[in-house]
Order: sequence, then structure tokens, then C-alpha cells
Amino acid sequence: MKKRGHKYIFIVGGVMSGVGKGVATSSIGKILQGKGFIVNLIKIDPYLNVDAGTMNPTEHGEVFVLNSGLECDQDMGNYERFMDHELKDEDYITSGMVYQRVIERERNLGYKGKCVEAIPHIRDEITRRIVRAADLNGSHISLIEIGGTIGDYQNVMFMEAARVLKVKNPDDVLFIMVSFLPIPAKLGEMKTRPTQNAVRQLNSYGIQPDMIIARSEVPLDKKRKEKIAISCNVRVEHVISAPDIESIYEVPINFEKDHLGELLLDLLKIKRTRRGTDLKKWRVFVKRLKEIKQSVDIAIVGKYFDTGDFMLSDAYISVIEAVKFSCYKLGVHPNIYWINAKDFERAVPRRFPDGSQGRQGKKISALKKYDGIIVPGGFGETGIEGKLKVIRFARENKVPYLGLCYGMQLALVEYARNVLNIKDAHTVEINPKTKNPVIDIMPEQKKLVEENKYGATMRLGAYPAHLKSGTLARSMYNEKVISERHRHRYEVNLNYIEKFEKGGLVFSGVSPDRKLMEIAELPQNIHPFFLGTQFHPEFKARPLHPHPLFTGFIKAAVKHKRSHKKKRKK
Ligand code: GLN
Repeated sequence: MKKRGHKYIFIVGGVMSGVGKGVATSSIGKILQGKGFIVNLIKIDPYLNVDAGTMNPTEHGEVFVLNSGLECDQDMGNYERFMDHELKDEDYITSGMVYQRVIERERNLGYKGKCVEAIPHIRDEITRRIVRAADLNGSHISLIEIGGTIGDYQNVMFMEAARVLKVKNPDDVLFIMVSFLPIPAKLGEMKTRPTQNAVRQLNSYGIQPDMIIARSEVPLDKKRKEKIAISCNVRVEHVISAPDIESIYEVPINFEKDHLGELLLDLLKIKRTRRGTDLKKWRVFVKRLKEIKQSVDIAIVGKYFDTGDFMLSDAYISVIEAVKFSCYKLGVHPNIYWINAKDFERAVPRRFPDGSQGRQGKKISALKKYDGIIVPGGFGETGIEGKLKVIRFARENKVPYLGLCYGMQLALVEYARNVLNIKDAHTVEINPKTKNPVIDIMPEQKKLVEENKYGATMRLGAYPAHLKSGTLARSMYNEKVISERHRHRYEVNLNYIEKFEKGGLVFSGVSPDRKLMEIAELPQNIHPFFLGTQFHPEFKARPLHPHPLFTGFIKAAVKHKRSHKKKRKK
């Protein structure tokens, strides 16, 4: 280890997945940051994918994109939102990256003829990455979230790397287990046994947790804290109660009720010489969001429904959070509605999950009740015609519309078809043979796709765009040049720009070489808010710094709601 005295806190999950390890990690990061420390957060994903880019959102939730263009786990989005800083590539580690590097090194004789093995070589490569991330971030403390649950075969090597780091630096490494305490409905009693078992299993790896964050529906009582403490070898005050709460942004404040920050600094033997803000702004933000009375109804039209509604919010998590932050800033609460684009496609005979048969199709006028509509990013054919109908409805009925990436491309397809009267206009992603490819594949992308080179090959990460004066985009950003994160293979076809512009559409954001259209909008005398972006503004929205485009969109939605209410009253 290069930097002496650097502190590492490993966060591992017990009992089951999905209990909020990512939010716990983000919250601990926030607390320590609030105490004046530079903290870097690392997410370890034990899968063999080199990054998250090739994974379907129904499998793994949203693919979050860093400034650098790295496609990673949605937890990285949580980290950025809580910490309010930009993460580095080194803050993300997958088994795929680790193995790829070790195997490449072996092929290059990097191990000088040695037999290359999981231990020590894979283990040491993991440690190298963790230490390097700390160095590059210049942090005092690293928080490392090990994905998966204790007992998974996949994360054993990461546990082993963590154990050895602790052996070598006994005063500088801590372990926190985020566990779950079920309350079986029939018993009505909170059970600690699964947590005890998870700790035993962790002990079998040679690791003793220093602290247990106990997730449950309700707060832990004294008796259960004591029981966990006795059976798991931790002190009672190191058992932190983490009940379900309304907003994840309250978690740091909740943890602080148990003095988690001070306890961690004691455990790490850190003298509290730093001056922090102690979450001052964060507390104001949380207080505000809890006081909100008004609401606004926002529809998100997606397609990743296939594993049930549960996955949906995961697949679009950054969009939802971006909507929330702008809403909170404007003092409204967002009611978010999930609309399945497929519902608006022609009524087709269907066999439903219960075995019955019928026809399904929803009337587009059902959209009337929403104050704003978002079509977020996406890939492929499913739900396209439904999305086009939704966009047409928003445009014609002057409902505020925000199109994100695919949502902008499809807005252009819709505009070409129904305003410019180019009936067969399409994106070549769906119809490669269309005579009117208003959205075309980027030339450098074509070859990659033909060669099946899909991993990390899209146009990814931060690129600048120049904004046109006098436009909606420019007024919202209040800047001439912006930088936003991208993830796409297709783009507006330059051969159609003139037609679009003559037909009333404005390209208010373009790449510096003017070859890529980054923002398209309708003038405000035509439509109060109809705007699409080729990039993903949602990746840069933060609780304390809401994104201007989302704020503009929500403002328009609130206005729409007011004018509708008035009309209904008359
Ligand atoms: N499928 C489109 C493209 O690749 C849009 C991508 C997206 O929405 N992120 O260009």
C-alpha cells in the first residue's frame, strides 16, 4: 500500500440482495464527507462482464455512464448523487476487468514464467485496483462496496483481497455488514437468526464485521440490538438500526441519529481535526422535500416491463431521481406513472398471464391526465410505434415533452412523418432499409456493429455542445457551451436538417463541428415545452444541483397543470 494511514471501509451484504447496500454505502460516504474528509466510493461487481454496457436493463437495471464514458452499475449513479462529485473509472471494478487484465498480462509474459493463479494473482490485482483508486482520488477514506451477498461464490476473491488488506493494515481496514431482519407476517416478530448466520459465514472467510447495519421494515429495538451484538461479536452501539424510510436521501440523517459517523472515526482511530459542514445543506434539502404539499403528474413511457413493474424503476433510476430533484427545487412532489409504450400500439389479440385471451390496446387520450411526458432512452424495436403515438399526442396537445436520447430520435421520426409528411421516415436502428433515414447510424459505428463489436463501442461519455441563442435550451442552461454524457450509436441525419428547420424544428444544441445535433426543440410560441436531447442529462442531476433541463420541464408541467385546472373549473 502506497499511502500510509489511508483508511478502507468494506461494505458487504448479508442475508439477501436488494436491501440497500448501495444507499448505505452512499450515505456513509456522505456522512464522512460531511465531517470534512475526502472520501472515494468504489463499487465492485462480481460478474464477468467487463462493464455494464452489454447488459439488458431488465437484467441489471440502468446502465449508468460516467464522464469518461465508462458504462457501469446504477449504484455508481447513487454515489455521484449523494457525494455530489464525479467518479473515476478506477472507482468501478468488475471480475471481468480483473481477469482480463491478469490474463492479458500473462500473455505478455508479465508474470515472468510463473504459474498464474487466482491466489495470489487475481487477489492482488483486486487490491492493486482498490489502492490505485484511493491514490488517484487523493482521498483519506475509501468505501468499497462488494456486490452480491455473503456466501456467493462470485465474490469470494474480493472478500479474500479485503481480508488480506486488513491483515496487513489492521488499524486501517473496517468491515460493515448490511444485513436484513425479516418480520414474518405470521409471527409478527423481527428475526435475527439470518443475520447471525450471515456473520458466521463471513467469519468463515476470516472476516469479522466491525459494524452491522440492520435493515428492516421498522427500527430495531434494544433487545434485538443486544442479541445481534452478543451473537455476532460486535458492540451494541455498533449495531445500527436502518428501518424503511420514505426517501433514500434521509438515510444519512437517520444513520447519524445512531452517531454512525463518530463511531466510524473512533473505530478507524481518526482524530477529528477536520472541519466539515456536517450535512447542513443536505438536511435543508431533506426537510424541504418532506414539507411539500403540491404535486405534479409525470408519465414516463418505457418498455422495460418484461420482468414486472419492479424492474422498471431500476431501469430508469437516474431519470426518476432527476425528476425528483427538480420537483423538490420547485416545491412540488412528483407522482410518477409508468406507461408501457406497447399499450398504445394497435389492439392485438393477446394471451394474458392468467391464461385468458383477449385484445389489448389503450386509448391515447388516456394521456390527458398527465402534466408532462418523458420518453427516456432505449434500444430496439419494442414499443416504438406506441412511443411515436405518445410523442404525437404530447406535441399536438401541447403537453410538456422531454425526450431523452431515443426520446429525441423518435420525436424527430414523429415530426418527419406527421409534420413534414415524410410518411416512411424512420431510424435505421429499426428499419435499415428505409428510404428516409432521418436517424442514421454514425459512420464509425457501422463497422463496429457489422463486426459484432458491441462492448464499450457506442459514442460514450461527456462531449461538448454549443447552444443557440434565443432558444429554450439556452435560456434554461444560461450557458453558451455545455458538456453532457452520451450513450448512442445513431444520430440525426444531416441530410434532413434543412427540411426539419424549414418545417419549424430548431436544433438548439450542436456539437462544436456542427455534425451532431445534440438538442432539438419547438419554438415556445408553437409549444410550451417540446424538447429532446441526444445526450442523457439525467446522469448529471444531483439532489443539491438539479439539472436545468429537468427543472425547465417540471416548471412547464406545473404551468400545464394550473392552466388545465382552470379550464376544468370553467
Ligand atoms: N438506440 C439509440 C441509439 O443507439 C438511442 C440510445 C439511447 O437512448 N441511449 O442511438
